Parts: sequence; structure tokens; C-alpha cells
Amino acid sequence: MIYLDHNATTPLAPAVIAAMLPVMAGVWANTSSQHGPGQDAKRRLAGARATVARVLGCHPGEVIFTSGATESNHLAVRGLLAAAPASRPRVLFSAVEHAGHLRLARALAAAGVPVDYLPVCPDGALDLAAAQKQIGPDVALVSLMAANNETGVLMPVAAVAALAHAAGALLHVDATQFIGKQPFDFATCGADAVSLSAHKFQGPKGVGALLLRQGVPLLPQTQGSQERGRRGGTENLPGIVGLAAALEALGDIPAEARRLTALRDQLERGLQAAVPGTQVWCQHLPRLPGTSYLRFGQLSADVVLQRLERLQVAASSGAACSSGASVPSHVLTAMGVSPDEALATMRLSLGATTTAQDVAYLLRELPPLLAPLRCEAPLSLP
Ligand code: PMP
Repeated sequence: MIYLDHNATTPLAPAVIAAMLPVMAGVWANTSSQHGPGQDAKRRLAGARATVARVLGCHPGEVIFTSGATESNHLAVRGLLAAAPASRPRVLFSAVEHAGHLRLARALAAAGVPVDYLPVCPDGALDLAAAQKQIGPDVALVSLMAANNETGVLMPVAAVAALAHAAGALLHVDATQFIGKQPFDFATCGADAVSLSAHKFQGPKGVGALLLRQGVPLLPQTQGSQERGRRGGTENLPGIVGLAAALEALGDIPAEARRLTALRDQLERGLQAAVPGTQVWCQHLPRLPGTSYLRFGQLSADVVLQRLERLQVAASSGAACSSGASVPSHVLTAMGVSPDEALATMRLSLGATTTAQDVAYLLRELPPLLAPLRCEAPLSLP
């Protein structure tokens, strides 16, 4: 099977499995226990925290372990908002945040919180001029992703940090798709809080972190003594050790980014040459190295994915979290793309397991499978 869905999740790196297995088997005591085994578990936790802090450029006290990016995003937005002064009730989300994060935005709005959305331009880039107008003195928090999970577009984190801070607001960044694929340094990134998730960079599922700048007030959303009272609940030590091992195993990120960019560009150009009507969204914007978001004319993405399945290629239509539901991508909708074009769009996301042979195979096998489909009348879409 050729796996081209690395933005949905990634396989565990061998070094991660090697680090986790002995902890699962032997270091199972509670990190809060005072006895010897508990203290051993506590030391392992501290070691993993130190590794995360070193690799991501923050202080160990700035790392709050969570169950993944969804929880980190919730903790950041709800926790920072609850600690904000009453004169700053508003929160801004970009219109293209992850679907789960936008559910949180809608839940807050339904509960009476003033919520607004930062728009994107038709090309998929954040509309900075609009953002500048929207970030006013009543805003507590801006929540912006570092890289979009569908288009791969890199967002202007430093510029929005400057706008937010000039207005006295905080910036939360969902870096779930960014960390592991691009160099990252918390100390200089400009954000006050950053979400990450281990399973996007060859770590285990169900574990992540919120990096929170020292001194920034946050109200915990789950009560307990762990994580210095900021996130209660017995820590998932094997997962946390796996997260740290995955970060340590990342290697030369710029070199891997160059490799994936070259493969991605070769794939896109090859498909554009062989399949008339192929359109790659956001092709000319700075994007994540391995992400390709494209459509073949009006061919339904579901039909193309079925053909890919026959070729033993795993890919997805837009966000994995909404696959199965035939709703046009909210990201493309925010860009002003028609529902028909959005429903024809699919995502190929390359990663550590992707080889030049995989790309050659796809370029050889996919165009002939699509040719007869394109001769039929355009599929009527519901
Ligand atoms: N944010 C982004 C940008 C994502 O891509 C994802 C995963 N699809 C999430 C948040 C949610 O991450 P997790 O699975 O760790 O909750």
C-alpha cells in the first residue's frame, strides 16, 4: 500500500516504539506516587519534558502535556479566555482553522462569547489587512493555525503576533501540521500558546502538548495537581515518552522538507501534464512540503479515491475528520470556491514513508484510470 495521507496521521517511527515499549512494560507506576516506582516514573516524565523543551525551544515549565491537539486547542482558547480581563471578551479564529477547532468557536458563540472569524483571500492566504481591522482593544485572543491541514498553506504567524500584541491581545497557534515538517522555535515564534500533537510527526496518538509562555495566565479546564495544576489527570507516560522520542528522531527537517517538496512538485506537475483540468489549490503560496490539494476537473473526489483504492493508494478528501460526510471543505468555501469544485478536491499528503518510486507509480497508473471517467458527462453532484 502507498500511504499518501500523512496529514491525517503518520506511522510510529521505530525509535518511538523502542522508547515506548519498556515504559509500557515496566514503568507503569503513577508519577504522583511517593514510592520508588512512582519516583522513577516521575523522573521519566521530567526527562521527556526536558527533551520536548530542548527540541522546541522552550522552558520545561512551559510544556503542558495533553491528550492531543484538540484538547490543547480547547485548553488554550477556553483557558486563556477565562483568565482575560472583562474588558476583552472577544476571540478571533481564522476561518480556515481545523474543523474541530471551529466547532469550539461555534460552541463559544452559542454560549454568548463574541466570536469573529479572520477571512482568507481567494488564493488561500490569510487576509492580513482584514485581520488588522478586526484585532481591536476588546480582543482577548486570536487563534490561528501555523499551517492548514487541507491546503498546506503556511500562515503569517509572526505578522499576526505583532498585530495581536500591539492591540494587547494574546496569540494561540495550532501548530499541529507545522511541527515536524518545518523548523520551529517557541522562544522566537511570537505565539503565547502553541498546540501540537505527537501522531502528526511519527509519535503515538492520544498525546500532545500545549506550550504556554511563562507568566501568561490560564484557567485550567480539568482540575488536578498534575502539570502544575494546569491540566489535571494522571499523565500518559508511555505516550509522553513517545512524543519526546518522536521529536528527537526528527533529524534534518530542512533536508526532509526539500526532499518532500521536490517529490510533491514532481507529482503535481506530472498530473497537471497528464490529466487535463487538473488544478492544484494554493500552488504558488508557501505551503507545507508534502501537501498537495487538487482536483481533476469536475471529477468527484470520492470517485477518484475509489480508483486510488484500486491502485492500493491511501489518500483522503480534505480533512480526515470530515471524510465520509459529503460536505464541501470549509477551507475551500472560505476561499470562495464553488461547492462542485470543492467536492472534486482531494488531498495527497506525502511524508517520511514516501519514496520517488511511489510518485513514479502514481504518475504511471493514475492518469489512464481517470481518462475514461473524464470522457463521461461531468458527474452531477448532489
Ligand atoms: N489541528 C489540526 C490543524 C489538525 O490537523 C488536527 C488533526 N487532524 C488537529 C488539530 C487535531 O489533532 P488531534 O488528533 O491530536 O486531536
